[in-house]
Amino acid sequence: MNPQLMLLLEIQDLHLQRAALLEEPGLTQMEAADFHIDPEAAAAALKERIEDLKSQLAPPVRQRCERGLPSLGRMLVPVIGGVCYGCFVSIPTARSEEMNQELRACENCGRFIYVLP
Ligand SMILES: [Zn+2]
Repeated sequence: MNPQLMLLLEIQDLHLQRAALLEEPGLTQMEAADFHIDPEAAAAALKERIEDLKSQLAPPVRQRCERGLPSLGRMLVPVIGGVCYGCFVSIPTARSEEMNQELRACENCGRFIYVLP
């Protein structure tokens, strides 16, 4: 798999984790009580890690990532059976191993895609 694609997967995962921490106060309180963590400190640690990963992205990818993350929620989506799971439009795909060698975006919704066999 393309290394930039792997970075994006990790960034998106941490981003969603951080959003969940900040947006679900009930869950946060429960987690804080159960695991003795400070949700704000945890969110800050995630942000730091996200910034670190972003610095490893190629500049155009990073730019797109910074524009896309807040507005799209998920900026990287799977393509299953030739269908983009960001916008549910079918897109032509070659073999998944070949497709994932390069970082690609859906021409319809602009999200980065990775192809599942
Ligand atoms: Zn799409």
